[in-house]
Amino acid sequence: MFDKEKCTLCGECLMKCHYLAYSEEKAKLEFKKLIDGEDTPVTADCITCAACNMFCPEGANPFDLINDRQEETGTFKVEEQTIRMFNMASALPSSVIKGDPEKPVMNLCTVDILPGVIEGQLFEGMTLLKGGEYFCYLGWVHAGKPSMLKQNAQKFVDNLVKTGAKEIILFHDDCYAMLSNKVKEFGINVPFKSIHIIEYLRDYVKDHIDEIEKLNIKVAYQQPCASRYHFDIDSILGDLFELIGVERVSRKYQRENALCCGGVQRSMINVSKEESENWRMKNLLDAKESGAEAMVFLCPICVLSLRSRAKAQGLEPYIISNLVRLALGEELTNGGAGKIFN
Ligand code: SF4
Ligand code: SF4
Repeated sequence: MFDKEKCTLCGECLMKCHYLAYSEEKAKLEFKKLIDGEDTPVTADCITCAACNMFCPEGANPFDLINDRQEETGTFKVEEQTIRMFNMASALPSSVIKGDPEKPVMNLCTVDILPGVIEGQLFEGMTLLKGGEYFCYLGWVHAGKPSMLKQNAQKFVDNLVKTGAKEIILFHDDCYAMLSNKVKEFGINVPFKSIHIIEYLRDYVKDHIDEIEKLNIKVAYQQPCASRYHFDIDSILGDLFELIGVERVSRKYQRENALCCGGVQRSMINVSKEESENWRMKNLLDAKESGAEAMVFLCPICVLSLRSRAKAQGLEPYIISNLVRLALGEELTNGGAGKIFN
């Protein structure tokens, strides 16, 4: 939630934004317009990456204000098929695949769309939740409709509570962001422990360290936008990479400066295909020129957006759990990130 009391109108948020890159004067002017509810090009041009919530030195959450204004003004326009996709996500048939009661419960949300990912010893015996009842709605920020989160947050939490689990692992970064940040903002109590997939993987590797063969590869990490709601997980990712012998290259577009995978830009009506392709290439070339041999993903949408393009640049794509499976000596039946299209 935007905190107007904290905002000093310094303009940093819109100056540091890679997609707007305003001058200091323009940034201050346009941000004041956002606060005052006046028209500004920010609402149409912001690509909803949430990076400015990290750029703000005061912790005022400027993206949350921008996103609210996007919805109020209707100036952030995405293709109809994007709206259909989000509506479809919550309408997907749901199921609970019962596992060993002694083993963890994991919410797959929409991750199950990638073939060959939920396989192997990491997932053996788990109870798996999937389908529309377990969709967290955070993706609606990328359709410029943040009210959908508030409207559906209680239902999402209630559906997870009904499983009776005391701890739930969230495979999708969006789900963890929703539970660790957004639902609290809405005053909703979460009576179970939320565990991020990276935390689960780190702890699993620690417990099975004798089975790990270090990979000795250099990777670039495609940070999902949702990670900006819970950035503390980044240090756990560092621990995990070290345990499996992965070096995360230092590059321009990382952490607070990470770029969008291109999925949102591609759906925006006022962004040309050429422009969104240029941003994707900037991201991949930055990874390649920084010495990465592979591109590691956490979010399934980032995988769909970049895996084939990464492969074409010589960067082997992996979703993070598959990288761990590789270190455990498992065969990846569908490659590192599901099917690759040429
Ligand atoms: S959300 Fe991203 S694109 Fe939008 S203003 Fe903030 S940094 Fe820029
Ligand atoms: S939201 Fe933060 S970064 Fe943006 S103008 Fe206000 S204080 Fe500065």
